Amino acid sequence: MNDIKLALLGSEGAGKSAVLVRFLTRRFIGEYASNTNSLYHKRLSIDGRQLNLEVFDPCSQSSETRCILEEPVDWADGFVVVYNISDRTSFINAENILRQIREARVDSCKGEMEVPVCLVGNKQDLCHVRQVYEEEGRCLAQENHCTFQEVSAAESYQDIANLFTRLIRQTMEH
Ligand code: GDP
Repeated sequence: MNDIKLALLGSEGAGKSAVLVRFLTRRFIGEYASNTNSLYHKRLSIDGRQLNLEVFDPCSQSSETRCILEEPVDWADGFVVVYNISDRTSFINAENILRQIREARVDSCKGEMEVPVCLVGNKQDLCHVRQVYEEEGRCLAQENHCTFQEVSAAESYQDIANLFTRLIRQTMEH
């Protein structure tokens, strides 16, 4: 059985818990009070392999405070960095988080990220009040050698399932 550890990072209110709960339960939980660090477990089968998935959802990292990255940054095998497409501040925070992951987890010999990362623009259903263009998310992901996906935890399960499945596959290949 493979153990896979993922960490979800991003600004408070970006929708990290909503994205994770959507993946784990297929449901959208509108209000999810969480002001503590949470660790979720799920058994999965991907490509015929049994996996023990652990996902760390730390209490949020605001843009002002130094990110609570010390713990998950060394612990995780992969990262999901979430911002809200209708909140530019959350995008700037995601940029800072990606930089911190890069600083901590780049293989200094190869100059490559040691761990796979997916940048996620959540709340795609709010595109009428969008503050971050999809192209900006794609460019930021390219600069940081990570994958990118816009999703709506409120409206869709499939995109979120796809992004987790892809990240888990990448983690297994690493
Ligand atoms: P977290 O602090 O990053 O874990 O954010 P939450 O998961 O608690 O979500 C913050 C707020 O955004 C809640 O009121 C959610 O209902 C709302 N929310 C989360 N995802 C979406 C989404 O895809 N679309 C919309 N419209 N609201 C969302």
